[in-house]
Amino acid sequence: KAATHDVYDTAEIQRQDAAHYMHPFTDHKALGERGVRVMVRGDGIYLWDSEGNKILDGMSGLWCVNVGYGRTSISDAVYRQMQTLSFYNSFFNTTNVPATRLAALLVEISPPQFNHVFFTGSGSEANDTNLRMVRRYWDLKGFPNRHTIISRYNAYHGSTVAGAALGGMAGMHEQGGMIPGIEHIGQPNYLENGSGMSADEFGIVAAGWLETKILEVGADKVAAFIGEPVQGAGGVIIPPATYWPEIERICDKYDVLLIADEVICGFGRLGTWFGSELMQIKPDLITFAKGVTSGYVPLGGVLVGDRVADVLIEEGGDFNHGFTYSGHPVACAAALENIRILIDERLVQQVAQDTGPYLKEKFEALMDHPLVGYADTCGFVAGLNLVRKKAEAVHDCEFFEPDHGVGMLCRGYMFANGIIMRAVGDRMIIAPPLVMTRAQIDEMIF
Ligand code: PLP
Repeated sequence: KAATHDVYDTAEIQRQDAAHYMHPFTDHKALGERGVRVMVRGDGIYLWDSEGNKILDGMSGLWCVNVGYGRTSISDAVYRQMQTLSFYNSFFNTTNVPATRLAALLVEISPPQFNHVFFTGSGSEANDTNLRMVRRYWDLKGFPNRHTIISRYNAYHGSTVAGAALGGMAGMHEQGGMIPGIEHIGQPNYLENGSGMSADEFGIVAAGWLETKILEVGADKVAAFIGEPVQGAGGVIIPPATYWPEIERICDKYDVLLIADEVICGFGRLGTWFGSELMQIKPDLITFAKGVTSGYVPLGGVLVGDRVADVLIEEGGDFNHGFTYSGHPVACAAALENIRILIDERLVQQVAQDTGPYLKEKFEALMDHPLVGYADTCGFVAGLNLVRKKAEAVHDCEFFEPDHGVGMLCRGYMFANGIIMRAVGDRMIIAPPLVMTRAQIDEMIF
């Protein structure tokens, strides 16, 4: 393909950017000194910047470009929908064709307890929706005190006020992102907290923190527990196999609703359509976004399980909640085509049976490297911990202290050398597009 670097005046874009663009999660003073890198094109698993450099995108953008970049069938579907009906809402007794078709398709591919879908514009809005839905559910059931939601430290559930509060990022809570009625427990981080235990023993211990918290808050006050099957932005924390079934058992014991935030784990990321299927749990609500459109157009939503949907529909009257862009026809058209690709190209099965196990083999072998203390994968997410001093047993390794900056240093080095990874402290993370082949895995890890 033709080089793109002669089309763009990088210096001019960087000047405009520094002058006017406030980026998310960015220290602008620091950015000002470095200048932004300008991405101009994508194809498959690769990106090109404005200076013509080719970069392997090990992060699927922001964990979302599951079917890869440059899919013309999605842009065609979007174009056709824009020409046919660019917008119509689904408030006030109307719908549009793609939104209704997508709701039906999502029900078809999701676990059996899901028969209803609520659309939003993003994952954050979807988690706001969850918060209001579960509180409304308990009000309708006659338990107006059951409003507390329990989440986990370092969880990321979005950037709206409710999303930030549900999340467990201290830096977000400190900057006006906290509201009452949200509690947090520890992450099931075996590396950090599992010393002296087998992974399975630790899974039970970590799930037990939920029971402790429920009893501390008062079981009659707890509405729901929310968690990602595998925590993404919190560091790709892959829980021991015992963790989620024990969480579900505790939720059942205290009649607490279970919300699986599958904004990252949904749509094949873990080698199953939804991560909760891999963890063998049956959540009452599932948050989705990102992979539903592979990021081509913004879209999110909530899969509403029968337990909640039946009460809201039968007893709730109007649910006073929704967004202008709930069920946007163009976004839903993109999602329909994206899901068709996932199905027809058998990408979920490919990750489960072929490329996922291959990535595991190659990625976890990086533990032989003197700088890598621990590495693990689940489907197409993976993380490794850089280490100051290696030891035979993983818990005896000397890891870097949290603010050492070694992860960011490594990320910058990788980026400069043509691979996008992400750093959470000293943990280096990848979440490649599901279309990545064995040969491309070899290109990434050699
Ligand atoms: N939930 C999880 C697990 C996420 O990873 C994200 C975004 O990264 C969100 C929610 C928020 O989604 P959005 O950025 O679309 O609002």
